[in-house]
Amino acid sequence: MSVATAPAAPDWARLRADFPALRRRVHGKPLAYLDNANTAQRPEAVLAAMDRYHREYNANVSRAVHTLGTEATAAYEAVRDTLAAFINAPSRDGVVLTRGTTEGINLVAYSWGGANLRPGDAVLVTGMEHHANIVPWQMACERAGATLKVLPVTDAGELDLAALPALLTPEVRLFAFVHVSNALGTVNPARELCALARERGVLTLVDGSQAAPHLPVDVQAIGCDFYAITGHKMFGPTGSGALWGRPALLAAMPPFMGGGEMIREVAFEGTTFADPPHRFEAGTPNIAGLIGLGAAAGYLTDIGMAAIAGRERALAAHARERLAAVPGLRLVGAEAPDRVPVFSFVVDGAQAQDVATLIDLDGIAVRSGHHCTHPLMRRFGVPATCRASLAFYNTEAEVDALAASLRRARDLLA
Ligand code: PLP
Repeated sequence: MSVATAPAAPDWARLRADFPALRRRVHGKPLAYLDNANTAQRPEAVLAAMDRYHREYNANVSRAVHTLGTEATAAYEAVRDTLAAFINAPSRDGVVLTRGTTEGINLVAYSWGGANLRPGDAVLVTGMEHHANIVPWQMACERAGATLKVLPVTDAGELDLAALPALLTPEVRLFAFVHVSNALGTVNPARELCALARERGVLTLVDGSQAAPHLPVDVQAIGCDFYAITGHKMFGPTGSGALWGRPALLAAMPPFMGGGEMIREVAFEGTTFADPPHRFEAGTPNIAGLIGLGAAAGYLTDIGMAAIAGRERALAAHARERLAAVPGLRLVGAEAPDRVPVFSFVVDGAQAQDVATLIDLDGIAVRSGHHCTHPLMRRFGVPATCRASLAFYNTEAEVDALAASLRRARDLLA
């Protein structure tokens, strides 16, 4: 459903009812879905948008002049406008539609990195990155003969900002950092980090995968050069996402993948390429998925991201208090005051996977494992954690059920 213009106080219970999967029962118990940082559930508005594409105007984009092709192209291009507004991009031209954040970061690492990184250069990342914002840079540095540097993480689970100026040395060409940590829930001061980098002539790429579902995102206020988001964390479908890049930077970048749709003219003697953003959208895209992502961004905008952030601050405070009171439970790197409701924890004497398996029997879904953040897990000296990650549709009652289930699991396992 579509919500009327930004209500002062959204009806959270009514909004929760938009998500059919949340009505499920698991092992005979009401589902408490607390694995949103892994992938979030989809509202009816997203399902309906995708369904309508499949049923009424399924056609390829940017090719056919027939009615269905024209409608599909219009819907696909409208997603670019919706996402530009969602992240307050200055124009639609900087919005490249992708299959997710992983593709967006790889695009920049391969295309910008290939054209700009030289032997002796460096790329700076942080100790709290998802592997998607480490490995592409390692690969780009290896190809170029550049080095990867790392901004450390404090015991509180924050970036060590005091260490940043000394790390932004002249050979650093780009600083890639996560806006919101998928493992700890920390909200990094993106605007300050970008300002410091810009003063030193260093470009910035922000991994916004976990910010987009929780906070208002404004790429102009942040002042970054690239910003990547992924659809399935923001209540859209898997295999959809977007990369925003400063149009002047995108214009100077070579293509990432070659194929249909990204060209101007192809001859065996040589090919000329389309302007951005189409230069970076080779082949048939995930049209239905991207239409679903547009619907998700529209849905969130209708609720209001500031309202969502406010609701989640209350949920985070409640979850911190309830989790901290579970005997034998230790929160990992959760001290940062500026946070979203994402908590990693270990239970004394119990394996994370066993805890997650046991509480699933109570209908509670959390993720266990390394959360694609091996270096961060190493930093905190744990092989794995359980992670409870909440969205605006979760409730205090679900948090209480989690805490009660964890107490029972601990009694059984420890
Ligand atoms: N970055 C962060 C912080 C993430 O949490 C994730 C997904 O877990 C990714 C990047 C990768 O997103 P995707 O696999 O959708 O491309």
